[in-house]
Amino acid sequence: MTTSYLRPTTLDEALAALATTPTARVLAGGTDWMIPARAGAVPDALINIFRVEQLRSIRRTGDALELGACVTVAQLLKSKDVLQAAPVLWKAADRFASPLVRSRATLGGNLCNASPAADLSLALLACDATVTLASKGGRRSLTVEELVLGPRKTALGPGELLVGVRVPIRAGQVSRFEKSGPRPALEISAAAVAFTATVEGGRLTGVRIACGAVAPVPMRAKKAEALVEGRALDPALIEAAVEAAAGEVTPIDDVRATARYRRRLVAAYVRRCLEACTDDRRLHAAAS
Ligand SMILES: Cc1cc2nc3c(=O)[nH]c(=O)nc-3n(C[C@H](O)[C@H](O)[C@H](O)COP(=O)(O)OP(=O)(O)OC[C@H]3O[C@@H](n4cnc5c(N)ncnc54)[C@H](O)[C@@H]3O)c2cc1C
Repeated sequence: MTTSYLRPTTLDEALAALATTPTARVLAGGTDWMIPARAGAVPDALINIFRVEQLRSIRRTGDALELGACVTVAQLLKSKDVLQAAPVLWKAADRFASPLVRSRATLGGNLCNASPAADLSLALLACDATVTLASKGGRRSLTVEELVLGPRKTALGPGELLVGVRVPIRAGQVSRFEKSGPRPALEISAAAVAFTATVEGGRLTGVRIACGAVAPVPMRAKKAEALVEGRALDPALIEAAVEAAAGEVTPIDDVRATARYRRRLVAAYVRRCLEACTDDRRLHAAAS
């Protein structure tokens, strides 16, 4: 079988190509796609979007950070806007693979590959990010939870391309990204936690605790979030939230870790995130 290969340089060309061949496979950096491809899963048409300049921009507006789908991990790490406006995303990028992979791996690929262990998707979930899907027929916006439906399963329809990500900017944000593995940057996570919150009057608000590699999709530990939302942290409350988070995740045993170990990692990471908040001088100052 021969594969037709298209390499558009504009978004219009990419969407036109997808409209005429809706079964074509989209290729961005190829770091996920190459693995099934090498095992023989080659589609009849490939559309390589990596050189579409419109999909490579990072733009800070008044209240949001706008990221193109083909922004690479290396670009995220070089961007002061990402560091300042979406620190948890920057931290996830900092724990991501090796320089070689970072130079190719894209934000859109991480989301659309729909891996339960996708680190950037996890950070974006903790940021309340939304994604824009485009096709010849128009555009629509989804949350990360609405986009990622299951392992390797997304809400993308035929002819649709993920074109951008919008991260709302929150002032006074604290964040952490915790990830397992003896070589944390080169390891697919056995478990990971992305944490964000806003500090207000000595209390945490807008708390997001996103857990990766411990459920079919990156998930928020909403019971744990609700427990600490708007309340002053103390050791008993932290332990209650840790227990809630560990109870909410639904990990499995696989070659990388047992379910029990993953649950314990989640507990340790959530505890670490919340304890770090109690060490934050802004919290102590505001509470006293
Ligand atoms: C050695 C190695 C280390 C890795 N380490 C990590 C890590 O630390 N953390 C982590 O999260 N991942 C890691 N990965 C996985 C991978 O690098 C990431 O998921 C990466 O972000 C995928 O992006 P990509 O551009 O390479 O996607 P591709 O492989 O090009 O595409 C992945 C999937 O998404 C679809 N797709 C891509 N872009 C779009 C779009 N704009 N619209 C619609 N569909 C699209 C493709 O059709 C394909 O199904 C690693 C991979 C390797 C090989």
